[in-house]
Amino acid sequence: MSKYWSRTVKNITPYTPGEQPKDRKYIKLNTNENPYPPSPRVIEAIKHAADETLRLYPDPLGEELRETIADYCHLAKDNVFIGNGSDELLAFSFLAFFEPAGRPLLFADITYSFYPVYAAFFKTNYRLIPVDEEFDVPVAGYTQDNGGIIIANPNAPTGKGMPAEAIEAILRQNENSVVILDEAYVDFGGQSAIRFINNYPNLLIIRTLSKSHSLAGLRVGYALGHPELIAAIIRVKDSINSYTVDRLALAGAREAIKDISYFQETRSRIMQTRERVSTRLTEMSFKVIPSLANFIFITTAQCPASILFQRLREKGILVRYFNKPKIDNYLRVTIGTDAEMDAFLETIKDAAGL
Ligand code: PMP
Repeated sequence: MSKYWSRTVKNITPYTPGEQPKDRKYIKLNTNENPYPPSPRVIEAIKHAADETLRLYPDPLGEELRETIADYCHLAKDNVFIGNGSDELLAFSFLAFFEPAGRPLLFADITYSFYPVYAAFFKTNYRLIPVDEEFDVPVAGYTQDNGGIIIANPNAPTGKGMPAEAIEAILRQNENSVVILDEAYVDFGGQSAIRFINNYPNLLIIRTLSKSHSLAGLRVGYALGHPELIAAIIRVKDSINSYTVDRLALAGAREAIKDISYFQETRSRIMQTRERVSTRLTEMSFKVIPSLANFIFITTAQCPASILFQRLREKGILVRYFNKPKIDNYLRVTIGTDAEMDAFLETIKDAAGL
């Protein structure tokens, strides 16, 4: 704390990202990164783009990438906006759509822990919708008066998905609010709301290449919505930083989207591993929340999650533990390669005394 800090900075409790330790080699199952490398076409494209044109600013809207994403999603270019990771798109969206000190934004009490940070930072009132014992959020929770809604689907850190009909009911009941669907994990088995974009001008979908395209290090996300919602985000971007996505990222991201067979292969491998590991953990007496994401949320009556977390860490395996009501006896475990998950299964069996 310093006398030079603004009141906002003094008062904020920032988001805590999963650790990226350098002290030893860990099996990293703590930040939902993809264990497989990006498509070789991505690396080639980035190498190719690393030339003298780097002296020039990138295209401020990334028009070529916008077009590639529009084709991929069967939408028009003006339904698409590109950002420096989906966290940036979320931050811009808070500024674009939610009034400071206005009617409350609604989101689940157990969801991506960045949402309350943005809400505090941008002075957005919010109301938490409690998840039930199985971590489902009742649609009825979203019928109360609100100034906006944000839902991670599938949800984090639980991996629980909401069916498209439930999403449509929420969109229909909230035509005066922007409903943001954070689809960071949708490629691992969830139901996307893309089909609703053309019918619901209040829908904004936010996606990322960080998970299913193995590009957490490149920082590219995209938003999909009615052109007027996209125009609002562009106004925010051009009031903060006109060039949020650099030339190398634009080049790499285009190839990642275009290499559909590589994407299909790696995401299905992760889903297969997830099912195998979930079955094995259930046999070992763990409770595994059915996941539609690239991670699983697990608990056991045999050993407190906080202790399991420490024991795994000592054995060189990093997972995520949230010391928070309702979930403080759970671990979130990212799905790694089959070899990594075999090591994880063996270690956790020992650590839990099973
Ligand atoms: N949304 C959710 C639900 C997430 O878990 C994450 C990853 N921490 C993000 C968005 C942000 O992803 P990125 O900024 O890498 O696109």
